[in-house]
Amino acid sequence: MKGTTAFEAARGILDAAALEGHWVIPGALGGLEGKKGAYVLLVLLDKALPVGAGRQKTGHLSPGMYAYAGSAYGPGGLAARIRRHFRADKKVHWHIDRLTLEASGLAAFIVEHGDECQLARTLLETGCAEVALEGFGSTDCLTCSSHLMTIA
Ligand SMILES: [Zn+2]
Repeated sequence: MKGTTAFEAARGILDAAALEGHWVIPGALGGLEGKKGAYVLLVLLDKALPVGAGRQKTGHLSPGMYAYAGSAYGPGGLAARIRRHFRADKKVHWHIDRLTLEASGLAAFIVEHGDECQLARTLLETGCAEVALEGFGSTDCLTCSSHLMTIA
């Protein structure tokens, strides 16, 4: 996969945080059917990208590795959500779609029954991640300033 080193570094950071979960990559989504929970989506950007971040805020992402904390407790659960994140043909509906459409590589760490805010906090607490864009993915969230982080 393109950007293998960047993915290995990001996976190392998550593994070091000792979260209970497993990795999925495009083309290998086995084991997600019927499951609900939270996830960290790794998005590798080769180029700079202007993005929205809710409440009319906009920002600019530099090339690099990003981690987005999300959850899927609705119909379709994790299988439908992660499949959508990995799909290259979709209309932009959420801000994160802009990133996944431009990504040069994607992977997701799945935490069944997990909490997206907890995942965002855990990542920030490692000291290896920082908020990428205030408000991104967290407009409904009272505790996080963002659900999108850069991985150093
Ligand atoms: Zn949150």
